[in-house]
Amino acid sequence: MTFAVSGASTDFELLASLANADLADASAEEIVRWAVQATDGLICVASSMTDALIIDIASRVKPGIEVIFLDTGYHFAETIGTRDAVAEMYPVKVIDVTAPRTVTEQDRDLGPRLFGRNPDLCCHLRKVVPLDRALAPYRGWITGVRRDETSFRRGSQAVEWDHRRRMLKVNPIAGWSQAQVEEYIEANGVLVNPLVAEGYPSIGCAPCTRPVQGGAHPRSGRWAGTGKTECGLHTW
Ligand code: SF4
Repeated sequence: MTFAVSGASTDFELLASLANADLADASAEEIVRWAVQATDGLICVASSMTDALIIDIASRVKPGIEVIFLDTGYHFAETIGTRDAVAEMYPVKVIDVTAPRTVTEQDRDLGPRLFGRNPDLCCHLRKVVPLDRALAPYRGWITGVRRDETSFRRGSQAVEWDHRRRMLKVNPIAGWSQAQVEEYIEANGVLVNPLVAEGYPSIGCAPCTRPVQGGAHPRSGRWAGTGKTECGLHTW
């Protein structure tokens, strides 16, 4: 089964649902292996650099795999440091993807602190549009999305058809719990953003990420107090 885009989206939705059935008991590594074959290797990883778990898994299957990092211009220094360490430590090619406008140009054209006035527009300009462009050369992308992260992600499957981008979306750890993530990180010595140990279990842009208290949902520090839970990368 190869996901080369031609034909109707419904065909690919069907193929994705068949793949999910076939991969119901597969490990994350086996899911990545299937996806690499299904896309003839035209697949990349997208990472926020909260940790390198999905990079660790994908690079074991496909050494040299490209890792898309959305450099929004608003990241914590620790996140940039984690990106640099990933590029050093893992057999991957990290690709920095930037928005068409720098932060300074965005401030000039749309006013300062857009993230505070219209975070959906800010995320669209600094994340969604750049990712759409960056994914264009591929037939699929691999994410670290998990069902227990947000209510929106509750329906995530290991293999999905990304309608808007007309490509395969692969979530190898969709069914993992936070405890499983921590076990894998511990067992495999996975690189973790140092901010995680400082109370930031989910890390996005600095202006929109707060530390969370023990027991709170890991993503509750993202756009805290706004009702926003997604940047738009995973919605279509
Ligand atoms: Fe802008 Fe915040 Fe979205 Fe980053 S997370 S792109 S700063 S609104």
